Amino acid sequence: MPDMCSDNPEKSPWMCHVCSHTSNDSEPIACSVCYKVTCALHLAHKTVLNEESGLYELQPICVECQIKPHL
Ligand SMILES: [Zn+2]
Ligand SMILES: [Zn+2]
Repeated sequence: MPDMCSDNPEKSPWMCHVCSHTSNDSEPIACSVCYKVTCALHLAHKTVLNEESGLYELQPICVECQIKPHL
């Protein structure tokens, strides 16, 4: 197990899964495709069709999922 700093149990630090950037003073954003936490640099809001509502929605999608072909 990595040595985690547990000095501030109220705020849990998060790490971007793309660049391993860590932060605990900003809100983590999870990619809407892979659900991994991603920093703002590696996340873009893309227009995605919501098949349930038939409406286009802006969803946060990480760079890794953006370059992957749709499954
Ligand atoms: Zn990043
Ligand atoms: Zn993703």
